[in-house]
Amino acid sequence: MTGAFEQPAFGETCRPSSLARGYILDLDGTIYLGDALLPGARRFVETLQALERNVLFLSNNPTRTPAEYVSKLSRLGIPVDPDQILTTVDTMTSWLLLHHPGATVFPIAEQPLIDALQASGIAISDDPTRIDIVIASYDRLFDYRKLQIAFDAIRTYGRAFLVATNPDRFCPFPGGRGEPDAGAIIGAVEGCTGARLQQNTGKPDRFMLEAALNRLGLTASDCVMIGDRLATDIRMALDAGMPSALVLTGDATRDDLATLEPKAMPTWVLERIDQVLPEDVTVQLPTRA
Ligand SMILES: [Mg+2]
Repeated sequence: MTGAFEQPAFGETCRPSSLARGYILDLDGTIYLGDALLPGARRFVETLQALERNVLFLSNNPTRTPAEYVSKLSRLGIPVDPDQILTTVDTMTSWLLLHHPGATVFPIAEQPLIDALQASGIAISDDPTRIDIVIASYDRLFDYRKLQIAFDAIRTYGRAFLVATNPDRFCPFPGGRGEPDAGAIIGAVEGCTGARLQQNTGKPDRFMLEAALNRLGLTASDCVMIGDRLATDIRMALDAGMPSALVLTGDATRDDLATLEPKAMPTWVLERIDQVLPEDVTVQLPTRA
């Protein structure tokens, strides 16, 4: 299985017939749900590693550091390197340094993003007369004080604009439950200020995909994007003309697909992630105790 990766026509729902050079994998709802590994996920990643394919895990969730993802995946039996994890903590930090060096930001965020901004030398302030950019993110410590600061910086003083780490409305949990995500914070700030989000640095924005492809050293057509969300994982791939596989193990359901236009369909729709492997791929994996 070393032939060139053949890109199929969009809308094809059978499994891929050849291997790609690179695989960009969502985490929540794709590799695991909550603390439980999803069926086939470990075998899938082990097989790709045995075949020396490039694997990058891509998460819109800015509430964990890469080291925390490495340790969670390791607990679940999937050993990875920190540089195989790319999150919206990385992309927000790099987007600010690239497009707004010297800006003072107010992150409505948990500690991993705040730490990364500080480590990159980005100025942080909660003084609305100094804030240039308000960052909405997945923040379980969100409160009225933070909303007031964002309101004052954007509306009262008219000096700041709104960006976000990710647009997800909620983070999926097992049993169909979930938790409000950055979409809720964006909605709160937009709701009181009338401002509109100026930039999202997570999926489905092209900035996130370019960061992933740069990390892998590959082009979009060399890779497959695999995820459980149509509006983020699959949308990002479609916008870049990149093959995509939707797994029905998280957010999206067959009912969601029934109402989709053909041009919004992922390349493949799969019940579980290991179906991304072509049927004739067999590798000898180490036996486990
Ligand atoms: Mg997901």
